Amino acid sequence: MTSETVLKASQRLYDEVITTGLCTLCGACIGLCPYFGMNLRRGTIRRIDPCERDEGRCYQYCPRTDTDMDAVYRRILGVPYDQDKIDIGVVRDIFLAKSSDADILKKGQDGGVVTTLLWAAMEEGIIDCAVETKMDADKSPVGFLARNKEELLQCAGNSYEPGAMFEALNHIPRDSSDNLAIVGLPCQVAAIGKMKTYPSQNGVNVDNIKLVVGLFCGWSLSPGSFHTFLRENFDLSQVVRFDIPHHPAHSFDVYTTSDKKSIELDEIAEFINPACSYCCDMTAQFADISVGSGRAMFKGWNTVIVRTGAGADLIEIAKKKGMLEIQPLPEENLTHLKQAALIKLKKAIRKITERTGSEQDFGYLKVRAEVAEVLLEE
Ligand SMILES: Cc1cc2nc3c(=O)[nH]c(=O)nc-3n(C[C@H](O)[C@H](O)[C@H](O)COP(=O)(O)OP(=O)(O)OC[C@H]3O[C@@H](n4cnc5c(N)ncnc54)[C@H](O)[C@@H]3O)c2cc1C
Ligand code: SF4
Ligand code: SF4
Repeated sequence: MTSETVLKASQRLYDEVITTGLCTLCGACIGLCPYFGMNLRRGTIRRIDPCERDEGRCYQYCPRTDTDMDAVYRRILGVPYDQDKIDIGVVRDIFLAKSSDADILKKGQDGGVVTTLLWAAMEEGIIDCAVETKMDADKSPVGFLARNKEELLQCAGNSYEPGAMFEALNHIPRDSSDNLAIVGLPCQVAAIGKMKTYPSQNGVNVDNIKLVVGLFCGWSLSPGSFHTFLRENFDLSQVVRFDIPHHPAHSFDVYTTSDKKSIELDEIAEFINPACSYCCDMTAQFADISVGSGRAMFKGWNTVIVRTGAGADLIEIAKKKGMLEIQPLPEENLTHLKQAALIKLKKAIRKITERTGSEQDFGYLKVRAEVAEVLLEE
């Protein structure tokens, strides 16, 4: 958002994002006011009441309204958004890692690095709680504040539906003195980046957010249709884990207490949230630390990108405490990651410009002219 932008409220958000297929269901606009309600189980956002306000945090923080990449980059990462950042963003360090803790390794999605880092930050007194997504008994994502290792373990593992951490974050009272870590998908981390860049006197105090951990993300699945599919095919009370193994596997795996069932990925593709096709960020560029899988060659490991000083300090702490096992990321994996991120970005730019009807207009993504040129290169 540029400094000249006049803040707009919920009507505008409704007309420009929610009803136009751009909404990622990140949840950033929910719980800020009495006017919007989100039914994550149906994958819908409902306007409960019309809002007459001219200004609104809902519009300002939505990752699909104007996002001045330079402004948010400078605030979060201390540098402008340049051509060399468009693939995986600022990289202070990048490596493979996995947890040294047996309980975390067992419950973690890949190498359990996210849960381990949150636990290290809690032990060290950097944070009081982590704002996370956990799955309820029906395997629907719910927002959750984890305050100890046991609660962190309850949140370990992926839901492939949009995360629900804003459900918990947006209900934290303004005067709370809890120091927070946040875990989110790139669209959610972008909303947090905008909150920090344009802090409000209302709602959660962004100064309390000490750490933002971003997950890599290719797409998420629409909670309404996908969850119905799951419910029709599984006894969800028996499901313990979901996974999308890397190439050459081509499946969505559902683990129950006694079994594993693989569903062809093509069968799942119809449930991908169409809004993800406009997403330009695969690696959560506004996070302190971004974490993805180690891919097939390094199953059970995470790829970790350290972006900020706060992120680097926490990695040092976790290393000193012996909480992480670390090895270098092979050059070919880095090349592959950058290529994958670039392909996602370029596809999104094509979709956005088709929609706006102009190669000069990248919709929500506001960038300098020299960066725009690179975004348009084939
Ligand atoms: C929808 C989705 C798509 C992804 N796509 C890719 C990809 O294309 N490539 C890749 O390398 N990695 C991808 N990831 C990330 C990867 O699957 C792992 O989440 C990541 O490697 C962290 O693993 P871990 O073992 O450290 O996590 P854990 O230690 O198990 O911690 C998992 C953390 O993720 C949070 N979480 C779980 N579900 C969600 C959700 N839906 N939204 C937000 N937070 C959630 C939990 O609260 C917890 O904090 C994706 C993750 C998700 C949720
Ligand atoms: S993208 Fe997020 S903030 Fe924007 S309308 Fe959808 S849920 Fe709300
Ligand atoms: S692909 Fe982008 S928009 Fe879709 S869930 Fe992932 S981060 Fe959000």
